[in-house]
Amino acid sequence: MTKQLPTGFRMTVTYADGTTSTGTATEAHTRASLTRAVSLGLRVEATRRGGVIITRDLPDGRTHTVTYLLPAPIHLSETVRRDLGLIALRGGRMKDGRIITGLFAIPPAAAARLARAGLVAVQAGQVSVSLAGRLALHAVAHTTGTRQPRGYVRPADVGLAHLSAGLNKPGGRAGKIHDRTSSAWCSCRAWSAPFAEDRADAGRRARGHREEATAAMIRALNGDTPAAEGGESR
Ligand SMILES: [Zn+2]
Repeated sequence: MTKQLPTGFRMTVTYADGTTSTGTATEAHTRASLTRAVSLGLRVEATRRGGVIITRDLPDGRTHTVTYLLPAPIHLSETVRRDLGLIALRGGRMKDGRIITGLFAIPPAAAARLARAGLVAVQAGQVSVSLAGRLALHAVAHTTGTRQPRGYVRPADVGLAHLSAGLNKPGGRAGKIHDRTSSAWCSCRAWSAPFAEDRADAGRRARGHREEATAAMIRALNGDTPAAEGGESR
């Protein structure tokens, strides 16, 4: 197996005035920082790039963010997700360059790629999914979407038939009303927001869900509470 790189993150701090500073952070530092952020009630969001964004909302409406990302971009193919999922579930051990996990063996080339990307950590022959790997898997499991508003519709089409009288708009919109409502959902299927005011509202609600789910994941990682992913609504 190729040499294991130290699992670590590139850290970017963006201050409220827009200036930034960058540095590196170990997995242990990042984990401690995340735990503190969750205990302070700051917003945390896992990214599918294998990292996390911590946002502190300031009283004046500005934000202060700290981003931890893997140094190099990763591609979470279906195979990589399956391999990481198996290791997360069953643990793994190195044998002849392969990762043995349950009854399954991840071939040497794929095993080396996982380690090089920083998605798994190898210690004394034992293989575990790194914090970055867990964050990436989590972000993929909580992929959200929002619905495009219908725009001009006939009232009867949205259950408002009683509104059709007296509407007379130019441009072929006669008898139509403008429907800007939207909705949001998550691939975890444990959450949705069927009645959002508009698409921006749907996007805000979806982000709120992703942040709540990430916070629950971090608490579960620390054994504070059982993972109650996506259960709460806002
Ligand atoms: Zn979700």
